[in-house]
Amino acid sequence: MQKLTVTFVIGANATGKSTFIKNHFSDNKAVILDVYDYQQKAYKEAGFNRQIPFGEAFKCLYKANDKLLTDIINILRQGKNIVVEQTLFKAKRRIAYTDKIRQAIENVNIHVYVMRPSDALWESYIAQRKLYGTLQSYKNIAAQIEFPNPSEGIDLIYEVADNNIQLKMDAPNYGIVAAARKELLAEAERMCKEEEKKRSKLALIESMNNRPFWHYCESCGKKAFISAKDAFDDGWDYPPQIGAFGLLGPRTCGDCRITDTLYWKVQQQSLPIVLEETLTAEELKTWQRIKNEPESLLTEE
Ligand SMILES: [Zn+2]
Repeated sequence: MQKLTVTFVIGANATGKSTFIKNHFSDNKAVILDVYDYQQKAYKEAGFNRQIPFGEAFKCLYKANDKLLTDIINILRQGKNIVVEQTLFKAKRRIAYTDKIRQAIENVNIHVYVMRPSDALWESYIAQRKLYGTLQSYKNIAAQIEFPNPSEGIDLIYEVADNNIQLKMDAPNYGIVAAARKELLAEAERMCKEEEKKRSKLALIESMNNRPFWHYCESCGKKAFISAKDAFDDGWDYPPQIGAFGLLGPRTCGDCRITDTLYWKVQQQSLPIVLEETLTAEELKTWQRIKNEPESLLTEE
């Protein structure tokens, strides 16, 4: 059987990766994948379209990379060559791929092409695609690229400057590999822990629909260890039926009015946000309790 090949075409934005792939790989029956497609999908699945909070963006990119890697391995297992458009600026990110691919598939070629166009060509790509930013801003990002090293598990490394494709194999540097593997392990553990935390938080919130928990009326001070359904039937304004855990809203029993709540007070302000220094001791206690919901409602104060 012919030896399979995975080819990564990497480089900064608008360095001509897609064009290069089209010109050099479109007729060799390789499957062509683009990390960009995976990233867009990950953002969408996470419920983001344009605005993505920073921590979430990292998680989405992490998931996109992971899904792409899974697809690469599955396609190789079907006996097909692959060309991947990727960014993979850091040795660490490439090693995450090469390690897993080599573990899964015996005897595979891994090739990397690094796009380094001339200023003139790069500028024309930026103009063609009507992208924002100056050439220099793109070059600043490209400066973060760690040039691939054979020790990362790559068989052939090429530098592509316009029409000139040059083999560029630096001396092996095994130190970066050991450091990268250690970092990757720590990173995977951290992601795993975060996911676990998120899962158990969701499970806890879900459980609040059925379990009894402490309800505190911020107006008259009444408290009751009851289920959400019983609270609702007794006229309580309380999450999960009314409002949401952790977000400011009224927390009152059936006998009290919303106008005596912290929520009401804050709504009367010109800027309706909680300013802790303006709160009474009682209001501060309420606010702390709300912020720490639903955990703060599990045990009696
Ligand atoms: Zn009350």
